[in-house]
Amino acid sequence: MADVVYDLHSHSYLSDGVLSPTDVVNRAAEKGVTVHALTDHDCVDGIAEASEAAKAAGIKLIPGTEISVGWANAEIHVVALNVDVNNAQLLEGLESQKQRRLTRGKIIGEGLQKQGCGDAYAGAREIAQGEILGRVHFGRYLVQEGHAKDIPHAFKKYLIKGKPAYTPTSWPDIEEIMQWVNAAGGQAVIAHPARYKLTMSKLRHLLRDFKEAGGQGLEVAAASHSVDQIQQMANLCNEYQLLASAGSDFHDPAMTWTDIGRVPAIPKQCVPIWRDWD
Ligand code: AMP
Ligand code: MN
Ligand code: MN
Ligand code: MN
Repeated sequence: MADVVYDLHSHSYLSDGVLSPTDVVNRAAEKGVTVHALTDHDCVDGIAEASEAAKAAGIKLIPGTEISVGWANAEIHVVALNVDVNNAQLLEGLESQKQRRLTRGKIIGEGLQKQGCGDAYAGAREIAQGEILGRVHFGRYLVQEGHAKDIPHAFKKYLIKGKPAYTPTSWPDIEEIMQWVNAAGGQAVIAHPARYKLTMSKLRHLLRDFKEAGGQGLEVAAASHSVDQIQQMANLCNEYQLLASAGSDFHDPAMTWTDIGRVPAIPKQCVPIWRDWD
């Protein structure tokens, strides 16, 4: 039997990726992924197209979304897998996230205008083409207008915490997000846990709260994690009896370090999130 290769975290241009859902799926298939989740930020609009493309490419598509969550002053990302994309409660929740993003976007835009970057809100919306508005769209605008040399630079100069256009957002808490995910029959996974720069005790606190709220998984094998971080997350996974997930967080073929299918292995000690999938 051919190997099963999982990549359970990726983005299309329906959020802040650059490829269409079809092109993301085709790239996954080309790279040898056999079970692939499309997990656009706060949106499931690409799933229908991705499912068709997956059928044609002969791979399995897991319907998902990556939801922004507020926890103790931090912004945490929860990847929801195997969601029913027609569930009314999930769709209503995601619509509220879309509105939060627009409200935040206006404030980010004002901040950037004050920095002499022109009408960044209009520019970013134009780049997002009416879809989910993310900080990456502001990043692309800033690069396009010559205010930053690339997107990481735009984040560092303007968009991250402590920088002039950073805008805190009151994302819903874990309990609320879990209601949407449960209503849609999905499994919730904490995305890229090492990226939040939480202290060990805060991370443990997060995992306890998440587990208590009904969360099931931890993205142990993330392309952005070091070997040591993968091991650390694997240990936490066992300690809190969470299931391990794996994903590249693919956005853009130019970002080769997070190319689709570039997913480290899950340490053998972990129980994978796909254990009970058929
Ligand atoms: P948002 O959900 O709109 O707040 O934006 C978060 C997204 O921005 C992440 O999913 C990444 O795609 C991107 N991102 C976050 N931090 C950085 C960074 N330092 N450099 C480049 N991209 C980043
Ligand atoms: Mn993103
Ligand atoms: Mn994320
Ligand atoms: Mn992501």
